[in-house]
Amino acid sequence: MPNVVSMEAGYYRVPLEVTLSDSTHGDMLAFELNTVRLRDADGAEGVGYTFTVGRNGAAIDAILTRDIPEQMVGQDADRIELLWQRVWWGQHYGGRGGPTVLAQSALDMALWDLKARRLGQPLWKLLGGYDPRVPCYAGGIDLDFPLDKLLRQTDDNLRKGFRAIKMKVGRKRLAEDVERVRAMREHLGEGFPLMVDANMKWSADEAIRAARAFQPYAPAWLEEPVIPDDVAGQVRVVREGGLPIAAGENLRTLWEFKQLIAAGGVTYPEPDVTNCGGVTPFMKIAHLAEAYNLPVTSHGAHDVTVHLLAAAPNRSYLEAHGFGLDRYIAEPLRIEEGFAVAPDRPGHGIEFDWKALQAIRA
Ligand SMILES: [Mg+2]
Repeated sequence: MPNVVSMEAGYYRVPLEVTLSDSTHGDMLAFELNTVRLRDADGAEGVGYTFTVGRNGAAIDAILTRDIPEQMVGQDADRIELLWQRVWWGQHYGGRGGPTVLAQSALDMALWDLKARRLGQPLWKLLGGYDPRVPCYAGGIDLDFPLDKLLRQTDDNLRKGFRAIKMKVGRKRLAEDVERVRAMREHLGEGFPLMVDANMKWSADEAIRAARAFQPYAPAWLEEPVIPDDVAGQVRVVREGGLPIAAGENLRTLWEFKQLIAAGGVTYPEPDVTNCGGVTPFMKIAHLAEAYNLPVTSHGAHDVTVHLLAAAPNRSYLEAHGFGLDRYIAEPLRIEEGFAVAPDRPGHGIEFDWKALQAIRA
């Protein structure tokens, strides 16, 4: 039996090469990275991670160090669903979201990595094996970039192989957003997939006004127009704004996705494997979206998520973020002519440079 014999947590602060910003989270100078390393009785290892945009990493580290190991060590690592339920309900009273579910996401990812490595299979095949080539877009975090810098970043992304790009919106005046979206559309040409992301900036009424103002520039979707709690408001944005709506990076449970999807409040459900509870709930959300005939997209953690979307027949675009993690990964994800290709290495195939990470321990 592949029993878990050890669980080790790591906590790091990853500096960013450029300061990033969106409409809600202020200036981002560094990301926090929390890792989990599970080892089984045969010496096999599984690795998982989660990240934050600058805060709460210490709380995640405490949960991974003090609360979860007693629920893991000695357990059969192949019973991932049982372990997921046990950890979820074990933390539920103080958890059900926040740092707890981010910690559980990293743990669940490590369990799936361990299982796939033991079987000698890439994760995308273990999860169903639909198509390793996943369309991918560059997720710019660029709200405060002057226009010329935004266009330079866009050219950079085109050179890197991206054939779809997302930009931030939600500046002080809607007219500024409209002008930037217009300039990007002109720069990229008609038909190029351009997404816009408001990071929860608006009320439903403001979002409907913005969506209608963006319509002439045909964005592929408008992302997070309102706060994740305003389900009724976002249903109105879908119905009255005239644009497809993506949302989900700030939903934390399968059941929150069910509420939003069933209400008709989202066109592109967008779970993040590092904050929705891990691979286990991510795949349930993807299948839930499939049952509603909706395409599923993703947020963050592209190196792992490429496997999950490669296993989902209803997958849409994979988001690739410039979180600065590439410097600490042996073989970062490559983009070829607009596609990310899930690797054939066993597990998720991410090998962290633990020595280099040691230098940025938080
Ligand atoms: Mg977003």
